[in-house]
Amino acid sequence: MTEITRLAAGMEAMLPEILAMSERVVNIDSGSYLADGVNAVIDVWAGMLTGMGFTVERKPLPGRGDQMTARLSLGGNGKRLLVLGHADTVWPAGIAAEWPFAREGDRITGPGVGDMKTNVVMALHAIRMLLAEGALGGLASITFVIVPDEEIGSPQSRAWIEDESRNADLCLTLEPCRPEGGMVVGRGAVGAVYLTATGITAHVGSAREKGASAIAALAALVAPLEALGDPPSGLCATVGILRGGEARQVVPGSAELHLDLRAPDDASGEALLEEVRAIALRPPADARVSIAFRGGFTRPAFPTLDGTKALYALAEGFCAELGIPVHAVVSRGGSDGSFAARLGVPTLDGLGPITHETCSRREWVEVPSIVTRGAVLAGLIASAQG
Ligand SMILES: [Zn+2]
Repeated sequence: MTEITRLAAGMEAMLPEILAMSERVVNIDSGSYLADGVNAVIDVWAGMLTGMGFTVERKPLPGRGDQMTARLSLGGNGKRLLVLGHADTVWPAGIAAEWPFAREGDRITGPGVGDMKTNVVMALHAIRMLLAEGALGGLASITFVIVPDEEIGSPQSRAWIEDESRNADLCLTLEPCRPEGGMVVGRGAVGAVYLTATGITAHVGSAREKGASAIAALAALVAPLEALGDPPSGLCATVGILRGGEARQVVPGSAELHLDLRAPDDASGEALLEEVRAIALRPPADARVSIAFRGGFTRPAFPTLDGTKALYALAEGFCAELGIPVHAVVSRGGSDGSFAARLGVPTLDGLGPITHETCSRREWVEVPSIVTRGAVLAGLIASAQG
């Protein structure tokens, strides 16, 4: 039995307990805007962390759940480890009653089951196992962070995550592992731009010429904005929302457009944003319409640092020993790991169990991967002592 197969056996023994806690938290509605639900999930995890000897701090945010920081000082000469998780989901109130946690064979499903409730539960148990073995004395410290607003881009949490990252030597992020074992070693930058047009309302029958259409002004921007994208190079500009107007027979006086931006790195993202701004702020065909511009890049790119490559190589070795698939993924989506990586902290993401159809109503987790990915995570944590 190698060290990693021994850790997998330990995870296997805890699987019933992990599934029970996953069921408990999946069945709590905790969409990013549901502060009470997010806090109820955090209560469960904070309780376990306290029991493991962590000092838990919670900072309430207006309209959101708490920011939870759990710290454990181990006093060794090894690394200061930062583990990043989140308690919120993309789902609305009432979802758990309609789509509760369920297990069918080797699959579990439910809202946020793989993004990322089971993932945090798996990580907590992996750390508890290592601590119970007295196996982490070489680490300097562990900081376990639970973010309440990750699914909306962590707008209120970025500065806090960056502060914690500056005090870390290594960051492990618990976003789901991709099908076939994809771990995330890099991410692109993600941006959001909001355009608001103000025109002049008028009845189309009696006073059409007095009106200035806000919808027409924004609709004219859709094609030129989307043409800025070049998907093979990782640049994408996509209009996700275009809406406006109040009645069929009234020239629309207001409209809004929401544009999603993706870029492979921060420099190309900034260049794309400048092009977007130039198009958006060009005088509209009807000069009586004004357009206001808001937004920018919210998540920086996550560069594949040398330290990240080293972490991935370690994980790859563990996966080989366990006979499970692994491959490196550079994602177009952002995560909180992007904030740490951008500050130069070696970061590996996608360390949760294997999750399929993430953030859809069909989201499900491969149960056996809770055991194996939990062992890989435990192996990475134990290795940070050197
Ligand atoms: Zn997530």
